[in-house]
Order: sequence, then structure tokens, then C-alpha cells
Amino acid sequence: MLNKTQFFIDGDWVSPYVARELSVIDPSTEQPCAVISIGGEQDADRAVAAASRAFESWSKTRPAQRLELVERLLEVYKRRAPEMAQAISLEMGAPIDMALADQVGAGTWHISNFIAAFKDFKFERPLGAHAPDDRILMDPIGVVGLITPWNWPMNQVTLKVVPALLAGCTMVLKPSEIAPLSAMLFAEYVAEAGFPSGVFNLVNGDGAGVGTRLSSHPDIEMISFTGSTRAGIAISTAAAASLKRVVLELGGKGANLIFADADPEAVKRGALHCFKNTGQSCNAPTRMLVERSIYARAVAEAKAVAESLPVDSAHKTGKHIGPLSSDAQFAKVQEMIQKGIDEGARLVAGGLGRPEGLAQGYFVRPTVFADVNNQMAIAREEIFGPVVSIIPFDEEDEAIAIANDTPYGLSNYVQSTDGEKRNRVAARLRSGMVEMNGRARGAGSPFGGVKASGRAREGGVWGIEEFLEPKAVSGWAGPHAAKHPRQG
Ligand code: NAD
Repeated sequence: MLNKTQFFIDGDWVSPYVARELSVIDPSTEQPCAVISIGGEQDADRAVAAASRAFESWSKTRPAQRLELVERLLEVYKRRAPEMAQAISLEMGAPIDMALADQVGAGTWHISNFIAAFKDFKFERPLGAHAPDDRILMDPIGVVGLITPWNWPMNQVTLKVVPALLAGCTMVLKPSEIAPLSAMLFAEYVAEAGFPSGVFNLVNGDGAGVGTRLSSHPDIEMISFTGSTRAGIAISTAAAASLKRVVLELGGKGANLIFADADPEAVKRGALHCFKNTGQSCNAPTRMLVERSIYARAVAEAKAVAESLPVDSAHKTGKHIGPLSSDAQFAKVQEMIQKGIDEGARLVAGGLGRPEGLAQGYFVRPTVFADVNNQMAIAREEIFGPVVSIIPFDEEDEAIAIANDTPYGLSNYVQSTDGEKRNRVAARLRSGMVEMNGRARGAGSPFGGVKASGRAREGGVWGIEEFLEPKAVSGWAGPHAAKHPRQG
């Protein structure tokens, strides 16, 4: 059993003020695999004080210096990737091969993309030819609090920590108490890369304790959060009195619009995407909207995908899906499957209970519901499990109306070989992202949503700008004047 009871504050591993331990549960076995500490207000305050002290000098470093340190961080991250994959697989149940390729890979991708975006990033910008004496100076916002979930741990940690570092902010990270091991390893990488003490701090804890303290802390200028809509609202409320910037990346209920002229792989691709990471992705295409003329075939194809998808321990190599991350997630997914049955959706694959032969571990059956209507709970609520809901449609307008009829607005998907139709539909979908014909979004593309999905934009230039404040200056002395100290 791993002992991980310390926090990383001011460049050192330190013990909590008050010992309060929590077991980290391996979801493949339901057995404890590590013990961490649940911090309290004093621990959060100590980390914020360290970050505040470090801000003075870190915010004045040259961009080139920060870039060099982040490049070193990327080297360490790549070199120690197998260790990171082990940690993620153990704490949240991603199968080891997937953990290395996708979970750890997402972090490599984001750090690399931030480095690329930062090379052309301007901290001092002209306003325009009409105002030659004006400059817009992009100042780091200050000390930031970063609160992350358990489903894509390194994806979310790198999407927040790396742009904050590049922007010149100092920070306190509170990772999910369900999946804290990967973030603690990441803290080791930060130390190994040589960042000055106090720039990056990590305190473990729960939402009610450290989470609330960071959200309401008077010395924190911004909270960047990824997780549930419920916690996003609680954080916004706690943050209101101190008027800090709150950046939220919340849930989703993505629609995948499959038109009759879609390519032959569209249904299979959509179902596999939904089941990936055992359905625990905010951008999963969980509502499959299928044009009626191909509906019966699509239902049969989705059923075949679900029934042929292996489910097994995260510790085994191979292309299976793993367990859900926790007992709470297991209970929630079971409850949602039951709701689907009770509301009259047609269960065509999977269903309640564990897959055969897996009596221990938070394993669930890849599940397909057909004949779903968009008012059912399984079409409205985020399930966060491998459950796809298939909804028929007749007309393009109807498909768009169903897709947009949701509290969420993170990512939608369109499948059609008609380019004009694809573009027309994408323009009318109310979401932060639209992915079409299985094409992944490119490097540096902004990730985020609208409505109850939050309004954050993470990744690339947009992700860096979230951590900056534009300062408008007039009367700037001519082209030969001293450069802004933060300009490289
Ligand atoms: P959660 O939102 O409760 O937890 C995510 C993070 O927020 C954790 O670090 C947690 O400690 C912290 N937190 C919780 N309450 C807080 C509060 N009041 N103040 C400050 N921080 C707080 O998510 P969960 O309970 O782990 O999962 C519940 C549901 O959230 C899931 O079923 C899923 O629907 C959704 N979820 C969405 C995402 C996403 O990427 N959008 C990620 C994880 C979970």
C-alpha cells in the first residue's frame, strides 16, 4: 500500500496540520491501494501563502525562461510516462495500455501544444493603427486555484497547470481525492524540472474542505475547475464574495447526428467513442441521433459493438474497457440504467449488474438503449458510464432541435458525406465544439462548452489567455522605448 500522506508546498513535501487519512481504492479490485491525507483550511492557507510569495518574482520572469522550464517538464513527463500510466490505471481504472496511450498521451499532447502556442504568444500587443500610442499588456492574473476531477486526470491537470505556469501565475492544485496519485507524481515532475519553490503547490482534500477554502480564498484571483455542474455552481457561489474569476469546464450530453448518407463506420465509431474510458468523458457522444431510414441497421450495429467489447481489469494489457472509477459511480450508472428501463426505453444490449465473470470491481456492462426520446432521464442527465441512448429523427431541422434541447452544450458530432449539410448543421449546433466524420480537432483547438457545460476554453492560445488580464495603456512611448518586462 502506497503512503502518500504529504502535500507539496513551497518546494517541499510536508505533513498536514491535522492527520486525516483517506484510502484510495483500486476500482479493479475494490481494495485500498494507497492512503492520502485530506487537508483542511490551514493546509490550503499555507499553500496559498507560498504561492503568493512566489508570485512576485515568478510573474516577472521572462517568457523564454518559463518556456524553457516547461520544455524540461515535458521531457520529464515523457521519460516517466510508464510510471504515470501505472498511477492512473491504479487510481481510476483505465486499462494500462489505454492509460499510457490515451490518458498519459493527452498530457503530452497538451504540454506540446501549449509550448507551440507560446512560441508566438505576445504579452505586449498594439491596439491598432488608429491608436499608435496604445498598448495592451497581458498580465498574469495572480495566484490561481486549480480543482480537477478523476476521469482524465493528466488531461485536466496539464490543461490547467501548464498554461498557468506559462502565463506567469503561481498556483495551488487540488486534484480529485478519488484519483490523487497521478497528480502527486506530476508534482514530482514539476520539482524535477526545476521550477522555483512556491510556484506550484499541491494540497489533497475534498470539495467541502480544501475545495471550498480555495474557492473563497481572498488571495486567490481565479479558480479553474473541471467536474460536475453541481460542484461548479457551489464553487461559483463560494467565489462570489471575493469576486474572483471562475472558469468552469463541466458536464455534457453530446449528440451524435448520424445522417443516412454517413460513412459505413459512423455508428461503430460513435458507439466506441461513447464507451471509451468506460463512458467517463464529459464530451462523450451519449445521445446517438439516427436518421430513420438507417435506424434499424444502426441499432443492430451499436448492439454488436456493445456485445463484442471486452470488459476487464485495468491491470491487464489489451484493448478492453476497465471498471468505473468508484462505488459511487457504479451506483449512479446502475440507477440510470434502471431509470431507462422504467421510462420505457428499449434495452438492446447490456443492462444492470456486472459483466459475467467479474464479481469484484466496479465493472458495468456496455449498454445500448434504443427508442429513446429526448425527455427521458437517460437523454437529459449525464450518466458517466458506457451507456448510449439512440433516438430516431426524420428531418435535419428535427435532429438539430433534439441536439440543442439539452441543458448542456459541450461537444456535438455530425456524420454525413454531404459537406454542405455538415457545415450547415455545425453552424446551428449550440455547443463549444463540433466534431465531424470522426476527425479529431487539431492541435491548439479550444476545448470547452456553453450553457450548463460551463464557459471555459482550455488548450492552445485560448487556454493561456484564461490566466491573463489585458491591461490597456495609452501614451506608450514610441517603438524604441523599453519593452514590457514580460516581453521576451
Ligand atoms: P465533482 O464535481 O464532485 O468533483 C470534481 C472535483 O471537484 C474534485 O476534485 C472534488 O473534490 C471537487 N469538488 C467537489 N465539490 C466541490 C465544492 N463544493 N467546492 C470545490 N471543489 C469541489 O465530481 P464527482 O463527484 O467526482 O463526479 C460526479 C459527476 O460529475 C460525475 O458523475 C460526472 O457526471 C461529473 N463529472 C464531470 C467531469 C467533466 O469532465 N466534465 C469530470 C468528472 C465528473
